[in-house]
Amino acid sequence: MALIPQELIARKRDGGVLAAAEIDVFVQGLLDGRVSEGQAAAFAMAVFFRGMDLDECAALTRAMTHSGRVLDWRAENLTGPVIDKHSTGGVGDAVSLLLAPVAAACGGFVPMIAGRGLGHTGGTIDKLESIPGYCVNPDPALFRSVVAEIGCAIIGQTDDLAPADRRLYAIRDVTGTVESIPLITASILSKKLAAGLQGLVMDVKVGSGAFTPTIEQARALAASLSEVAQRAGLPLTAVLTDMDQPLARSAGNALEVRCAIECLVGARRDERLEEATIALCAEMLLLGGLSRDGAEAASRAREALTSGRAAECFARMATALGAPVDLLERPDAYLATAPVVRDVFTDRVGRIARVDARAVGMAVVALGGGRTRPQDRIDPAVGFSELLRVGDLVAPDAPLGRVHASNAEAAEAASAALGSAIEITDAQTPIGTNFLVIETMARPLEGNPAR
Ligand code: URA
Repeated sequence: MALIPQELIARKRDGGVLAAAEIDVFVQGLLDGRVSEGQAAAFAMAVFFRGMDLDECAALTRAMTHSGRVLDWRAENLTGPVIDKHSTGGVGDAVSLLLAPVAAACGGFVPMIAGRGLGHTGGTIDKLESIPGYCVNPDPALFRSVVAEIGCAIIGQTDDLAPADRRLYAIRDVTGTVESIPLITASILSKKLAAGLQGLVMDVKVGSGAFTPTIEQARALAASLSEVAQRAGLPLTAVLTDMDQPLARSAGNALEVRCAIECLVGARRDERLEEATIALCAEMLLLGGLSRDGAEAASRAREALTSGRAAECFARMATALGAPVDLLERPDAYLATAPVVRDVFTDRVGRIARVDARAVGMAVVALGGGRTRPQDRIDPAVGFSELLRVGDLVAPDAPLGRVHASNAEAAEAASAALGSAIEITDAQTPIGTNFLVIETMARPLEGNPAR
């Protein structure tokens, strides 16, 4: 079929439905350059406004999955299920860095193909690139052997794995076209199907820092992911989790890696980050048939984290992919630090009522920790740490958080942004905090090859 990109864009702009064959050639054009950056952006914007029906979304997912190689793990004779989790994107969401090694330490095999920052959200690959030497695009043989021998490898999309999503994702990131249920569904599932998974846990974020701020939107995204995964034969459990404030106490690339390492080695705890990791890992163990009930799965995951076995998996994985061998013992020797580090104060006395997590994420982008153009280089050192949480008491002598910036002017702007993102109320006012895990939608497991 001949490709005339503007015809397909115009049809979608006018609310038309695209045939699977048309979506196939468009995705082929994304790959070989016949679809320009402008046309890809216009297509994404048309889908943003007009949506896609499930057949179109499934076709886009399939085409992007097959834009590169689709992994098959059967030849490796793995002793456990090939499972993974993916998040729809949040702020301070360093879960993947903890969860891949925790799941590996529990007997799963996790070939995690992760993304870069998108819009106001951080990306696992940008975080890992703040580790000197860590190779996010190893050759396929190394990726396979790290997964088979250590149990997990976190890498980015390569020319091999879902390359069409890689191009579209980079364009969506900077064209205001992220928050689209069909585009998010196809983007995530194409990467995960290319990884040859037997089960996927989706962390669907809900709240101010999520692409789906309301519970209704998050449920719609979870349903779309679930339906398209079902059509592709991938068992999927969706867990809706709170993103009405940054998840970890840090937001920013090297800062989140440091925070994850501190949790792994037990140097410093981050309760919400660990709680999210354990809840999601428990679902992975259930999906992969490694545990029979939720409580047992959660306690296995917790033991893997607190015993240091997950830290060992992380260290082996990172070293195999090029990171320094003593990264976990001496993170400060390797992770970049910002030249300007200052605490952010308020003149109020009270309690934190709300945090606009999206505004915190955008402040990280403005500091240089995210992109405003696809080709931008990001600054790994910048961001926030020591962030207070909803319900915490504040006073003029207690910082709301700490900003890490490349210069004084950027630090000042980020401090002002953090101050405006945090709403403070009287200390006596009761604060309702969302549960971290809001609800879980498990798809029936019949036909689950992992069981
Ligand atoms: N994560 C992805 O991989 N893609 C999206 O579109 C959103 C989150």
